[in-house]
Amino acid sequence: MGFAERGIYSTNDLTNHHVANYASNSEHKASHEMMTLLDDVRLVRNHAYINGKWQCGDRFHAVENPANNQTVGYISMLNEQQIEEAIESADNAFHPWRKLSADQRAELLMNWYYAILEAKQDLAYLMVVEQGKTLAEAIGEVEYGASFIRWFAEEAHRSYGHTIPSHINNAQLSTLREPIGVAALITPWNFPNAMITRKAAAALAIGCTVVIKPASDTPFSALALAELADRCGFPAGVFNVVTGEAAMISKTLCASPIVKALSFTGSTPVGKLLLKQAADTVKKCSMELGGNAPFIVLDDMDIEQAVQAAIDAKFQTSGQDCLAANRIFVPRRHYGSFLSKFAEAMNNIVVGNGLDPKVTLGPLISASAAQNAARLVNDAIDKGARLIYQYQGHLSGANFFPPTLLADVTPDMAVYREENFCPVAGVIPYDNVEQVIKMSNDTEYGLAAYVYGHNIHNIWRCMRGLEFGMVSVNSVKMTGGPIPFGGVKQSGLGREGSSHGFDEFSEIKYCCLGQLPTASGS
Ligand code: NAP
Repeated sequence: MGFAERGIYSTNDLTNHHVANYASNSEHKASHEMMTLLDDVRLVRNHAYINGKWQCGDRFHAVENPANNQTVGYISMLNEQQIEEAIESADNAFHPWRKLSADQRAELLMNWYYAILEAKQDLAYLMVVEQGKTLAEAIGEVEYGASFIRWFAEEAHRSYGHTIPSHINNAQLSTLREPIGVAALITPWNFPNAMITRKAAAALAIGCTVVIKPASDTPFSALALAELADRCGFPAGVFNVVTGEAAMISKTLCASPIVKALSFTGSTPVGKLLLKQAADTVKKCSMELGGNAPFIVLDDMDIEQAVQAAIDAKFQTSGQDCLAANRIFVPRRHYGSFLSKFAEAMNNIVVGNGLDPKVTLGPLISASAAQNAARLVNDAIDKGARLIYQYQGHLSGANFFPPTLLADVTPDMAVYREENFCPVAGVIPYDNVEQVIKMSNDTEYGLAAYVYGHNIHNIWRCMRGLEFGMVSVNSVKMTGGPIPFGGVKQSGLGREGSSHGFDEFSEIKYCCLGQLPTASGS
């Protein structure tokens, strides 16, 4: 369906077109649990969204609830031709979309923003059953995800170029910022909503069209975002979501000369693979990869406050967060009291199904993730770490791992070197600021770092000395629309959010406007 037929300003109540799509969709629809949780069951989509239509694949793939291993629903496995079709539809939609005024694109984005907030509770339920986080965390993520849409809808009006003082006589020099074209967005399962909106909002606001490949473990959140975008009247082809086998989809997106930008969030090894695949067509690549965040408690910090902050920075989303405090550094003189207060605070954690309001920590995404957590703990203990605390409550399945506190973690341990992605907190004593900065930097990662303390001289030394893309002092909350999110070293390339977020989806065109000499005799 074209731009004119869709009416780009309408917020669209459900049309016959949507209801028909939903009916034809229902053969492989979601579990009874999911359908009973949601007020608006039409948000549950199991076909891919291409060119404004819901498309069925050759096969279906079961998505499991990590809290109980029950099937949440089935999603379509598309074939290569369908991925090509999605790319082509994004290409066809690109020129009309970029030609819209910034106001028009912003208005559609704001419609999408309000639609998401209106559906907040349902989107959060969807996320809990496919991802496993708690309902409170899921609601927080939906709000956080929506905030990027609002921010970029506003920023759409400010994607400025520059004028340049000319070094050429009688010439006007300037730059234009132009949308790059079709952008491929590949996202992970730990933040199934916000990792999509943080990319898509920037890309759409500046005038790109998108083909989104969500993680296979959490596709329903992405498809619900597509359903809402569809209701808001985004023109066909502007917003596409494809599901299926990761390697085939990524290869097809990377090999396509039509796709001009690749924005990936996920693990560092997959990021490296995609960079290689994208090299042949020289795509603009932005990579939001893994982290190994240090959490530095400075000597003058109140220990109780530091413990609470470290708990918050460690256990969000069951520790499956690229910003999770991976290595907690504590001055030697506060070490004992920090450990005992941390263990005491861990007593308040309740592990279970995220739908239960008493639960504060959900399952891990899979049984293999829980096995990996056990490997990290065993390796650390074998190498001399002390087990200070481990959750003793009932765990209702193989995807759960008991929150664990380890002391005397050292650089030779996997828990120090690797991104943990589980509820295991490793604590390390240190003697002085210079040493803790050096230890913090002793990693191939460089995403985020936390510092807690009062002395401005020491804080400043940390802020300057830490080799991380983001340093947060005395605040666990650091992200949001206005800030440039991203890492250095092997944590990634490029930034998401803020005006820098446009850089990944645009090109700078330099224009030199000379003045022809006046023709003789005229
Ligand atoms: P992942 O395994 O790298 O997967 C991310 C995406 O890549 C998924 O869509 C996945 O598809 C796809 N993929 C996986 N293997 C692939 C392959 N061989 N070829 C092409 N595509 C492939 O990462 P994850 O486990 O989902 O997410 C956790 C990681 O993301 C952590 O390292 C975390 O730090 C990072 N992360 C970083 C940020 C940030 O902003 N820096 C934010 C969140 C997460 P399937 O799901 O279909 O396999």
